[in-house]
Amino acid sequence: MGCNGLLWIGRVLILMLLVHEVVGWGKDGHYTVCKIAEGYLSEDAVAAVKELLPPSAEGELAAVCSWADDIKWYYKWHWTSPLHYVDTPDFKCNYNYCRDCHDSDGHNNSCVTGAIFNYTSQLYSAYQGSNPQSNYNLTEALMFLAHYIGDVHQPLHVGFLGDLGGNSITVRWYRRKTNLHHVWDTNIIDSAVKTFYGSDLAIMIQAIQRNITDSWSNNISSWESCGNNRTVCPNLYASESVRLACLYAYRNATPGSTLEDEYFLSRLPIVEKRLAQGGIRLAAVLNRIFSTEVKIAQA
Ligand SMILES: [Zn+2]
Repeated sequence: MGCNGLLWIGRVLILMLLVHEVVGWGKDGHYTVCKIAEGYLSEDAVAAVKELLPPSAEGELAAVCSWADDIKWYYKWHWTSPLHYVDTPDFKCNYNYCRDCHDSDGHNNSCVTGAIFNYTSQLYSAYQGSNPQSNYNLTEALMFLAHYIGDVHQPLHVGFLGDLGGNSITVRWYRRKTNLHHVWDTNIIDSAVKTFYGSDLAIMIQAIQRNITDSWSNNISSWESCGNNRTVCPNLYASESVRLACLYAYRNATPGSTLEDEYFLSRLPIVEKRLAQGGIRLAAVLNRIFSTEVKIAQA
């Protein structure tokens, strides 16, 4: 990525003392992103995804979209925990790959956007490259990619370093003590499912799908597009997220505050839109990776 001259040693030392407790969208958020993506996959992508999915998925991408969260507690997979987020400098409200994409030990590219580039290129080179023999586990690559594209759309996964993406901001969600990061991963979605969708996630997903075909239908192609024929553009997704973090997540959510109806009702549309964008973009990326058109054209 050509990132030089990073002055992060001080930050690294501070970070080494802290454990970044990050889950990503909760299970429901990831399920929603992947369920939405499933509806927008091309025929080629449906076939390739089916072939790559592990038997436990029973042919359903959404069934394995939290796999990357489930495994990261195992020692073998510990190295993947920094891949769920990227921290940005406090109060800057912007994101820069070279400045921000590293883990707390200073390893470059070890962050959510780096992971998205990496797993996209593993899959892309296997399906679009001249040498289809891949040394990578492409089933894992698909499951990681589906998960991390979800994560990068959660605004506080591109939050501030100083508060660990809202993890160290203790707040109340109605009467319950929690932290701001968790509010965005889980509480907003949980409360919405209970309050507006009869405690049924499937109904919430249908409502988001309806929004995609109605209110957001004119936005779909701009969400899908990456410019310059690129397969994926996680830097764009991350820049949007940190902006939303500043505009909505951090605003009026200082340590010790109680977040209730006003916060919930004004932030829920943001969460629903990010889940929709995550799903549409995941499908677009998989459609580009697994497209057979390029190969036929070249033949
Ligand atoms: Zn995650």
